[in-house]
Amino acid sequence: VHVDELAALLPPGAVLTDPASVAAYRHDWARDPAAETPAAVVRARSTADVSTVLRWACARAVPVVPRGAGSSLSGGASGVAGGITLSLELMREVTVDPANRLVVAQPGAITADVKAAAAEHGLWYPPDPSSFELSSIGGNVATNAGGLCCVKYGVTADYVLGAEVVLADGTVVRLGGATVKDVAGLPLLKLFVGSEGILGVITEVTLRLLPPVTTSATTVAVFHSVAAAAEAVVAITRRIRPSVVELMDHTTINAVEDAFRMGLDRQSGALVILRSDAPGDAAAAETAVIEAECRAQGAEELYTTTDPDEGDAFMHARRSALPALERLGPLLIEDVGVPLPALPALVAGIGDIAEARATRIALMAHAGDGNTHPVIVHEAGNEDARTRALLAFDDVMALAIGLGGTITGEHGVGRLKASWLSRQLGDDVVLLTKRVKDALDPTGVLNPGVLLR
Ligand SMILES: Cc1cc2nc3c(=O)[nH]c(=O)nc-3n(C[C@H](O)[C@H](O)[C@H](O)COP(=O)(O)OP(=O)(O)OC[C@H]3O[C@@H](n4cnc5c(N)ncnc54)[C@H](O)[C@@H]3O)c2cc1C
Repeated sequence: VHVDELAALLPPGAVLTDPASVAAYRHDWARDPAAETPAAVVRARSTADVSTVLRWACARAVPVVPRGAGSSLSGGASGVAGGITLSLELMREVTVDPANRLVVAQPGAITADVKAAAAEHGLWYPPDPSSFELSSIGGNVATNAGGLCCVKYGVTADYVLGAEVVLADGTVVRLGGATVKDVAGLPLLKLFVGSEGILGVITEVTLRLLPPVTTSATTVAVFHSVAAAAEAVVAITRRIRPSVVELMDHTTINAVEDAFRMGLDRQSGALVILRSDAPGDAAAAETAVIEAECRAQGAEELYTTTDPDEGDAFMHARRSALPALERLGPLLIEDVGVPLPALPALVAGIGDIAEARATRIALMAHAGDGNTHPVIVHEAGNEDARTRALLAFDDVMALAIGLGGTITGEHGVGRLKASWLSRQLGDDVVLLTKRVKDALDPTGVLNPGVLLR
């Protein structure tokens, strides 16, 4: 790769090639052992830089990996040997437009900064992946990120009104915008939301904002088993729409306690955190339903607080679950989801897989969405343990598909699950996906190996 040629087309300092810098962009958060070191990293400062990189790469068939903050859990932003990792991390401008109740952000803006900018104008950007203090807004749009509030407020896609996208050949297109209702043309904007960097590079997003809501009550329910907790979730969500329904199993609770000492009950089999943000008396009515259904499923303990700080502390505990589990050893992180009534069968099946493969699987879940993160923990340097963990990883995806579910609810297919996509979608849909990819990126430069193999 003639990186000097590319460097000459870009502002000084945009291209990094020294070994330490490129090595830092080999992995994303998934730490895929198969990740490769890119030939160069370009830190774009403008849409023009992005366009220059893609025009150059497309003409020479050089792979380009778009990268936001690198918090991908599916290997979507990991490096490709001989390729360019195109980082958007320096494009961070955020402008709130209160009159239109929207925010325009450059892709590298951290999700938390977008939320904070909206809050300064008394507005709310709901999507809240647990990684919101790490992840970029462009990465959120590219993965259609979910989070804790999705159960009531939807996923990133529900807030995307417009985007500027640079196509594989360097062409810049603008899709959608400030108009709330707009059906002119095919819904191409939606095509790029969740496209995992394989169709274009997002260089600006326009996001809808809401008036803020206040959480009225947080309930923590302790169960003897994950199965009972899952049954309670199904029963509750059949009747009401809480604003948060998060679950942690025994292993996860103890990992959080070991790492951060948050005062969770170490003896519990499972813990479900539920919140209501219904206004006035409605919150008490929702909480009554939550408590009644938890009791009906044999909850051992129920604790409800109306103190927002105390409620936030429980949310913080849940958000700390993955970093806490990372201390136990190498992880394989699943993201399987099922239709809600199948949630108890999914968690029971995951328990069976852990036993059959003699491997440890911790569980946390955006349970109200039927979206679970079974986390397979194995022993570092133990090849046999890693093999069993990989078999369990496949078993869990097969289980979810068998229950009518998905291999990924929010993290994306990335490189780690690309070989599984046809098992879920079928060959015809994968072929259709390839035709879309070929139409937009005929040379196949954008994020090769992600989503499609
Ligand atoms: C502790 C932790 C908790 C997490 N919790 C959640 C959660 O609750 N919900 C959730 O959905 N995810 C979660 N994630 C996963 C991750 O944070 C999300 O997938 C996030 O959206 C990725 O954003 P990023 O900026 O880090 O993107 P990256 O990791 O840099 O990239 C992710 C993918 O998007 C593509 N991409 C990035 N930027 C662009 C762009 N501008 N244009 C085109 N393509 C682009 C990349 O090529 C890659 O395929 C978590 C991760 C961690 C580490």
